[in-house]
Amino acid sequence: MTDELLDSTLAPVPTERRVVTAIPGPKSIALQARRQAAVSAGVSSALPVFIARAHGAILVDVDDNAFLDLGAGIGVTTIGHTDDHVVAAAQRQLAEVVHTLFTITPYEEYVRVAELLAEHTPGDFAKKTVLVNSGAEAVENGVKIARKYTGRGGVAVLEHAYHGRTNLTMAMNFKAMPYSLGYGPFAGDIYRAPNSYPLHDGLTGAEAAARTISYLEKTVGASDLACLVVEPIQGEGGFVVPAGGYLPALQAWCTANGIVFIADEIQSGMARTGRYFASEHFGLVPDLVLSAKGIAGGLPLAGVTGRAEIMDASQPGGLGGTFGGNPVACAAAIAVFDRIEQDGLLAEAGRIEGVLKPALLAMQAKYPIIAEVRGIGAMIAVELNDPSTGAPLADMPGKLAAFAAQQGVLILTAGTYGNVLRFLPSLAITDAQLADAMSVLDDAFASLSV
Ligand SMILES: *Cc1c(COP(=O)(O)O)cnc(C)c1O
Repeated sequence: MTDELLDSTLAPVPTERRVVTAIPGPKSIALQARRQAAVSAGVSSALPVFIARAHGAILVDVDDNAFLDLGAGIGVTTIGHTDDHVVAAAQRQLAEVVHTLFTITPYEEYVRVAELLAEHTPGDFAKKTVLVNSGAEAVENGVKIARKYTGRGGVAVLEHAYHGRTNLTMAMNFKAMPYSLGYGPFAGDIYRAPNSYPLHDGLTGAEAAARTISYLEKTVGASDLACLVVEPIQGEGGFVVPAGGYLPALQAWCTANGIVFIADEIQSGMARTGRYFASEHFGLVPDLVLSAKGIAGGLPLAGVTGRAEIMDASQPGGLGGTFGGNPVACAAAIAVFDRIEQDGLLAEAGRIEGVLKPALLAMQAKYPIIAEVRGIGAMIAVELNDPSTGAPLADMPGKLAAFAAQQGVLILTAGTYGNVLRFLPSLAITDAQLADAMSVLDDAFASLSV
């Protein structure tokens, strides 16, 4: 199997969707039965088709169906599945050294990733990085580092936020179901403030920021807060783009009050929105930036990057972990940065927005359940609400996604009320693939929306 995987004569992955069985097909159904017997029911799958191969924006399942992937593993394979450059870098690194544990004997790849993050995160000041394994672990470390630096305990988060599935991050999430229900007791000293959600609150950025700040000043007090953790564009919450001026006002308040401003760029970062980090669209210069998902082309890697004086407040040995900054994951991340730089991939996000937004706005004109088309770059969503009452249409995104899956198009849902369809394709997706996916989605709306 290993030799076969490395064999360059492996049959090429198609570039168009291809549906040859019912979805899921017979081999996926058989695997699903094995999976149900062996894998915890707490681990769910949006679409139980088992994937055997992937390249670019295409997933091929065990029944030989080819799916156009508009999810990229939730914005992880941002530069494309099995990107040749990433695969070659990871294969080379696997043969050279796979593990030493950076806290025992270091290696250059970790340092290089830290240098690249310092270079590409916003802000022109000395920065340092710690590498970890997952987004939730980056959030945990960001909070730890901010607490150590400030000597304070309080953590502020926003409504509709998502930060992970560990004990601390469960308590930072907005949604209890499915993330935290029944998993308590939870971490304390976390304060959840109203966010800016222009479609629903109708507030300007300044008004929404005043509301957030006043809420935090009343319920906790600025001087007890170590940090404010925000997603510049909320991911699981439904790609909520805050009103102009909202985030800079929050950052100014943090700076004035000695609160570490942490941007959770785990979903919005690494070229997804056409900049390295979405913070740049809002003129934000966070004290700490959290990256994960798209950073290493599919390999598990995450990081906390920020002001040197904050990052260096931790005692030696206080940060780290066995697998954090694994050499193979770091080699893949270096290849991702190379690809973005050398091949001008930041521009691809704008190209994708230029295809998706007009197509979705045309659908909005036809289907009044589309309350809003929003997002930046390759991070676009539609929110579906009842046109007469404004009530969220919680079931509709799932039905539309199921329709699209039958046609070989993988689309993800999101939103606190489950009423959002989100598009976060890889930057490798072609205009023709996007247009094809949009025509399938149009058919889905035509057959399902009343
Ligand atoms: C996915 C995500 C996380 C958690 O990352 P994991 O790698 O799944 O632990 C945290 N924050 C945001 C914004 C995310 O999208």
